[in-house]
This record gives sequence, C-alpha cells and structure tokens, in this order.
Amino acid sequence: MKLLEDRIRKDGIVREGGVLKVDSFINHQMDIPLFRQMAREWKRLFAGKPINKVLTIEASGIGIAAIVASEWDVPVVFAKKAMSINLDYDNYETQIQSFTHKKIYNVIVSKKFLGPEDHLLIIDDFLANGCALMGLLELADRAGATVEGIGIAVEKGFQHGGDLVRARGIQLESLAIVDSMDAATGQITFRPQPHQS
Ligand code: 5GP
Repeated sequence: MKLLEDRIRKDGIVREGGVLKVDSFINHQMDIPLFRQMAREWKRLFAGKPINKVLTIEASGIGIAAIVASEWDVPVVFAKKAMSINLDYDNYETQIQSFTHKKIYNVIVSKKFLGPEDHLLIIDDFLANGCALMGLLELADRAGATVEGIGIAVEKGFQHGGDLVRARGIQLESLAIVDSMDAATGQITFRPQPHQS
C-alpha cells in the first residue's frame, strides 16, 4: 500500500538489529486516519470473506485492530499476555517468544470470546519471525475457529514469519513488506505488491 510505504519512508527510523521504529504513527502515537485507510484496503483485499471477529494481541495490535473491526462492524478480541499459565479451564493458552523483548510470554484468550462459530481476521502491526502470529493461530486452532485471513501493517520480508504463514495456505496481506533496510543510510526497499493500492 503506497500510502503506508511512503509514510514509513518519511517517518520510520531504521535501527541496528533489523528493528524499524514507527513510533510517531503506529506504535506510540497512532495515526487514526491512516489506520482507517489501511482498514479500507484490507476490506477490499478480504472482500467476500465471512469475517465475524477480529483477533489481535496486546498491546500494539489493538489500535489498528479496533479500527479494522469498526470497518467490518464486528467485535475485536485481543490475546492477553499473562504472568503465568494458571491452568484455568476458561482460557485458551499458548506461549509466544517476543522479538522485541526477547522473552517468552504466556498468552490467553477467554473461551467466552473465541469458539468454533468464529471466522477470524487476525491483525497485527508487525510480522518478523512469526512467533506472535503462530501463537494467535494456535489459539484460534484450540478454539476451533476458522482463520479467514491475516492483515499485517509491516512485514519484514528479510525475516521468515511471512514464509511460514504463506506455507500454511492462509491469505496474508501485509500492507508494506520491507525487503531490506540499512541503519547507516536509513534506506528502505519495499517488495512490489501489484494487487494493492
Ligand atoms: P514476530 O513474533 O513476528 O517475530 O514479531 C512480531 C512482534 O514483534 C510484533 O507484534 C511487534 O510488536 C514486534 N516487532 C517485531 N519486529 C519489529 C520491528 O522491527 N519494529 C517494531 N516496532 N516492532 C517489531
């Protein structure tokens, strides 16, 4: 999506270690008109899918997911990071390795809010190694829910989460795919996506 790529070029900051900071419009301050345009683009890309719920993970997925859910007029459920697995039979649980914090999180979703009747659109801000997404897919699987698609704002194509998800045959629409970025020059190259606006 050209609008998002242009914004990343303008305001994104490339850090050492393959980290892209987008604090001024996604991860700290949130540009809601931009999120609305992103949500509309996903609505077009996932047209015809019977989506009845959006699933994301706290914290940084929630803002985008809320705007997306509003576009479809459906609820959004976010997986919560829990201190410890508490063997609570009312929750689906799994573990996720965090790319940014290098920790392992337990994540939970209440059985009240996810079940076999759900047709999910999974939304997150970044896709790197795919750990967060694999955790969300695992929760959906445990709940017996159907994943209709996955929308990611920024995929880092030089990491391999995207390949893992595409290999599972799930429609994945990343609105910007960074193929390379250079912390010294700030140069970012994006993968062409002709089917996107
Ligand atoms: P993964 O689990 O795919 O390795 O990483 C996904 C999660 O890590 C995202 O939800 C996001 O919060 C965080 N993340 C991964 N890479 C980056 C990055 O380059 N910049 C930012 N801001 N967050 C990232």
